[in-house]
Amino acid sequence: MSLEQKRRLVTELPGPRSQELMERKLAAVAGGVGTTMPVFAARAGGGIVLDVDGNQLIDLGSGIAVTTVGASAPRVVAAVTEQVAAFTHTCFMVTPYDGYVAVAEALNRVTPGDHEKRSVLFNSGAEAVENAVKIARAYTGRNAVVVFDHAYHGRTNLTMAMTAKSMPYKHGFGPFAPEVYRAPLSYPFRDGGLDGRIAAARAIDQIEKQIGADTLAACVIEPIQGEGGFIEPAPGFLPALAAWCRANGVVFVADEVQTGFARTGDMFACDREGVVPDLIVTAKGIAGGLPLSAVTGRADIMNAPHSGGLGGTYGGNPLACAAALAAIETIEDDGLTARAREIETLVKERLLKIQAADGRLGDVRGRGAMLAVELVRDGSGEPDPRLARDISRYAHQRGVIVLTCGTYGNVLRFLPPLSISDDLLDDAFDVLTAAFEEIR
Ligand SMILES: *Cc1c(COP(=O)(O)O)cnc(C)c1O
Repeated sequence: MSLEQKRRLVTELPGPRSQELMERKLAAVAGGVGTTMPVFAARAGGGIVLDVDGNQLIDLGSGIAVTTVGASAPRVVAAVTEQVAAFTHTCFMVTPYDGYVAVAEALNRVTPGDHEKRSVLFNSGAEAVENAVKIARAYTGRNAVVVFDHAYHGRTNLTMAMTAKSMPYKHGFGPFAPEVYRAPLSYPFRDGGLDGRIAAARAIDQIEKQIGADTLAACVIEPIQGEGGFIEPAPGFLPALAAWCRANGVVFVADEVQTGFARTGDMFACDREGVVPDLIVTAKGIAGGLPLSAVTGRADIMNAPHSGGLGGTYGGNPLACAAALAAIETIEDDGLTARAREIETLVKERLLKIQAADGRLGDVRGRGAMLAVELVRDGSGEPDPRLARDISRYAHQRGVIVLTCGTYGNVLRFLPPLSISDDLLDDAFDVLTAAFEEIR
């Protein structure tokens, strides 16, 4: 039974059932777990989330860039249903199963570069980032890790250290892991459009002076930053950084947890400039909503840790592996990278049209179905987080799920599932256009 692909409100949002559930949530769930929209989901698919009161919302969030193929993609549903009846778990480190191997083969094939690769599977993005650092340290025999301004790499202890923003991710949760250093990013909207190569030279100079290449195990970077504000470095930045890493024996790690799997209109964001990372970290869009993550990379680096040094009870769970194989097949067979580019054309056109009449839309940016607008006070570059909050609230009340992000909280980001229809996108951006007209 498929969901009708139409926005429909039958109650005020949140409706009575959602309100009841929210009361139970507050009484039962730890207060540290936030809520973007106080509406409880009953079903989801295509570009629609159906709530417990019967309202149909347009999904421009994909559960934070996860349900790229949709939240109930037919191939994923069929593969997981078959697997759950066969077995749920044996632990790959106890008695292995072919799904894990097949996912590793698929990742080795679809990730950038045609060199010999190996993969290892985990459960969350943060866990995979941590393991990429472990692997780089084992390979290089060095300790230091470089990350960038505005970076987001997760919420575990090491990845909190790697994440830039204090509130809400780090505040009160220290002390943090040592030997993590931060370098300046290329941020065209806020660095005067500095040339990518010059921005890279600035970062490299700081790394060489403040850390020293010979103590550096890894340089970890999101090719387009996610939580930090969908910041796309200027062309030339990533290739220059990757080349410097290669020349200095530093492992270049691309954190493609948010950008991976067709999200940006390429299979991976690194593909756009032909950057081949030594290690690539993937999660979110990898498995149609099931928890799975991976580190994939050069065989000699990946094989550096001793046997038993990598793993975990659930890493590469059979259900998640079945889902990942189905999701990758869906992306490839349904031409979803091309679909992401179509979405970019449609959404950017709508955003640029609003921007032409409204100076508060400082910067429209992003690629594929990973798009954003940075909001500023009209006439100045000063971040306007209040406007981002008001616009997203307006959209939420009218049944459009939008997310915010950015170091300053002033970025509206759009991450629709690639299974969304043009009609739903048009309807959602009609709502957003009205929001900018009505909110002053
Ligand atoms: C979400 C995200 C992570 C963390 O992934 P989790 O699955 O939430 O642990 C790491 N890096 C990037 C770029 C992300 O967007």
